[in-house]
Amino acid sequence: MKMQINGKAVDACSGEFFDIINPATGELIDRVPKGTEDDAAIAVESASSAFNGWASTSPQQRARILYRAAEIVRQRKDELAVLLTREQGKPLAESKNEIEGFAHVLEYYCGLASSFHGDFVPVPQNGYAFTVKKPLGVCTAIIPWNMPALIMAWKIGPALISGNTLVLKPASNTPLTNLTLASILNEAGLPPGVFNIVTGPGEVVGESLVKSPKVKKISFTGEVRTGKRIAELAAGGMKRVTLELGGSDPMLVCDDANLEAAVAGALRGRFYNCGQACTAVKRLFVFESVAEGFIKKLETGIRNLRVGNGLQENIDLGPLNNRRQWEYIKELIADVEEKDEGRIVTGGRVPEGSSCCSKGYFFEPTLVVDVARESRLLNEEVFGPVLPVVRVKDLDEAIEEANNTCYGLGASIWTKNLDRARAGCEQLNAGTIWLNQHLKVAPEVPFGGTRESGIGRENGSDALSEYLDLKSVMLKI
Ligand code: NAD
Repeated sequence: MKMQINGKAVDACSGEFFDIINPATGELIDRVPKGTEDDAAIAVESASSAFNGWASTSPQQRARILYRAAEIVRQRKDELAVLLTREQGKPLAESKNEIEGFAHVLEYYCGLASSFHGDFVPVPQNGYAFTVKKPLGVCTAIIPWNMPALIMAWKIGPALISGNTLVLKPASNTPLTNLTLASILNEAGLPPGVFNIVTGPGEVVGESLVKSPKVKKISFTGEVRTGKRIAELAAGGMKRVTLELGGSDPMLVCDDANLEAAVAGALRGRFYNCGQACTAVKRLFVFESVAEGFIKKLETGIRNLRVGNGLQENIDLGPLNNRRQWEYIKELIADVEEKDEGRIVTGGRVPEGSSCCSKGYFFEPTLVVDVARESRLLNEEVFGPVLPVVRVKDLDEAIEEANNTCYGLGASIWTKNLDRARAGCEQLNAGTIWLNQHLKVAPEVPFGGTRESGIGRENGSDALSEYLDLKSVMLKI
């Protein structure tokens, strides 16, 4: 597959490619151009040339094109979902949800087309003022491999509806769904240059886009370390940034919680997308009075999860997306065993004896209980199918443990008691708090992190202000 620049499919200036591998089978699916700094510059130039034309269309005209794109995406959902599973590894049902999520996000922003406008403000002593909202210009989006379609929508929805043009750099191992979605946007009538994709290494293409003087805003989703590098580069040009970074979300299970629901929530919250979600349950704190029964139910639930190629029927977990993640998870478990920092109740191994799992980056869904506070499982972002459980005596201890992290993306509290729920909402440090659920993210609701989990918000109408400049006009009449 080729890059998408100025409405055309093109190769990289270098003439080089890199391979896209199916993480379930090791097979080569496709190759994409290995973009260079020159390719990034060409894409920015094309977005810059397209800006005035796109910014002068009405938001309603823009919405008509994005609606059409969402409709085509829904029509081609099954084919797009297969492509996403082949390059990312997730079970087909999750891919279908993600593709529907892409369409839903675009439709949501189309619905806001008539909603963003300035205000009229009376000023003391017979004055008046009004405010005008203007698009910023060329924006850049840099995205990861765990949810490539959904995160693409979170960026293009607000950026394009508000009149900006955009250059997106996909993750190097999951660019195929993004490129296909870009060709659908072209088919839906997006003018050439309004949206471009440059594939290539983050340190080359990503950094060139961030540094380009013509780029006015960067929206990044990925690791904290990369986010810090991008913030540093963006500061040189005083550019706006939205940074959606990692998380180590805690789940707090109180002794009055509906334990069946909490077990189901933990299974989905931890093992969805093979544990590779920014808001996955990465640390679970359970009251010791109910811990034994809860852990038993959790163990049964985890043993029942089916691991395999996401294209097969009834699979709960696919492989990890790439070798680096796979090696990292194996290393973490070896570390727990070596230092005796927790008891592995189930899982902890690469599955054996199953032909479907012999070539991919598979790992058994794993439950580790009584994890030591100093364990890497509680102090790093565990992006894989490993659930560490810690017993706590009460809610105060649970909240203290939960907040003992540099992250602040999401947190959930499971209880029927309103006082406890309120304490969780007020005291947990996170951008999103869930009550008796975990993981759900909706385009209508602002999403983002505090502390090292990021800066700014995506989703909801608040995301539009991240892509609009506010100009105030003062009148004396
Ligand atoms: P990553 O930071 O390694 O890569 C993300 C993107 O940045 C890729 O496209 C990569 O090529 C690019 N990149 C790498 N180095 C760069 C540089 N120096 N300059 C510019 N671009 C560069 O992250 P990843 O491993 O792909 O994704 C996993 C991470 O993403 C996890 O930490 C996860 O929690 C986080 N994430 C956060 C959210 C959120 O909304 N908060 C959502 C999904 C994933």
